[in-house]
Amino acid sequence: MTGPATAPLPLSLLPDTATIGDQGQLLVGGCDTLELAAEFGTPLFVYDEAHLRARCTEAVEAFGDGVAYATKAFLCRAMAQLAHECGMQLDVATAGELHVALAAGVPADRLVMHGNNKSMAELEMALTAGVGRIVVDSFDELDRLDMLAARGIARQGDGGQGPARILLRMTPGIEAHTHEFVATGQDDSKFGFTVSSGLAGKAVERAMASPAVELLGLHAHIGSQVFSIDSLRQSATIIAAMAAPYDLPELSVGGGLGVAYVDGEEGLTITQWARVVKDAVAATGCTAKVLAEPGRAIAAGAAITLYTVGTIKHLPDIRTYVAVDGGMSDNPRPVLYGSGYETFLPRAVEARRARTITVVGKHCESGDTLVRDGTVPDDIAVGDILATPVTGAYGYSMGSNYQHVLRPAVVFVADGEARQVVRRQTLDDLLRYDVAP
Ligand SMILES: *Cc1c(COP(=O)(O)O)cnc(C)c1O
Repeated sequence: MTGPATAPLPLSLLPDTATIGDQGQLLVGGCDTLELAAEFGTPLFVYDEAHLRARCTEAVEAFGDGVAYATKAFLCRAMAQLAHECGMQLDVATAGELHVALAAGVPADRLVMHGNNKSMAELEMALTAGVGRIVVDSFDELDRLDMLAARGIARQGDGGQGPARILLRMTPGIEAHTHEFVATGQDDSKFGFTVSSGLAGKAVERAMASPAVELLGLHAHIGSQVFSIDSLRQSATIIAAMAAPYDLPELSVGGGLGVAYVDGEEGLTITQWARVVKDAVAATGCTAKVLAEPGRAIAAGAAITLYTVGTIKHLPDIRTYVAVDGGMSDNPRPVLYGSGYETFLPRAVEARRARTITVVGKHCESGDTLVRDGTVPDDIAVGDILATPVTGAYGYSMGSNYQHVLRPAVVFVADGEARQVVRRQTLDDLLRYDVAP
């Protein structure tokens, strides 16, 4: 399936509404991406709103109410509102994510609170806000919920106060066959209650006996960027078999669905994934409602990042370095996981890409690589806008202010309109937490 090294960008890697303009340039959401770069500057994250909505709607249709968008993939108030409007719940895992989701106006009972080390303050914040579910990760966390209940801190809900509504996160002992940094379902993991050692069973018994919590179900999330259908199926089977005897109403299979980043990769659709895990659960006799928490599968393909080419350094017989105005501070995935991306020039989307280049950022590190061995048209020049597709998940959200490089702006495009949802940082923003001596 992989095209020749000089093939044009596979258009399937672009957001749903991508089209080609009469000069061969890329439009997304009816907006000319070169004009977006001129108007908002670069680096720039451009999200296709229709693409985001389509994936959220697909998730709700595939799993039903209760499916949650994992906000760590990409979160700002506009994103939280969009997912909420499309009928998704939101998975938040820190006080910060919880704060942003609430600030976006998402009702607390539509939120699922995650985290392997939630502090007392985070748990108290979640309970007093009235979050719909807390996914409990450890016995220490059950202790904290007991302590909070003893102090009279209960979940605030429509019908008054109540115990925390919880799911227990299980570690099913499954290899996700993904990068070790994002594999979370194997026994040697910081997350959850280990099924194989019997801890999971003890956690269920303890939760059922505690007046501080109402146990609604079990949960497992085996990792991210998972392409192994077998691993997803096995994990669902293990937790379903474990849940069946307790007759709990809910079962969450987490997130993790792998998406295609480069030519030749192919992932399941959300609909296909739902079928696989629901069938696996049904086969065990477990009748719980199957829930999930996709992040990457919602957001990754929705965005492209636009950069401006600043320098081109050709080293004969070695490589050609193309330096852009961003780097590991707006997309750390290549540095963290060795992730691959495609490259293209939005001014000539369908052009053959005959030149192999290494796209690097502006940080003072040799490791600051965005794309190793990307391909671009031969006539790439300083000043060109260069783009990487499939950068909607774990790019902006994992970015940093390393070297006080300003964090980029984020725009949502739809129906020919672009709206800035996160503005570019300013130099003065960098001084906001810097308490003058
Ligand atoms: C990260 C995470 C998700 C989302 O993972 P994706 O790979 O982005 O789908 C879902 N649930 C939990 C508990 C997570 O940690």
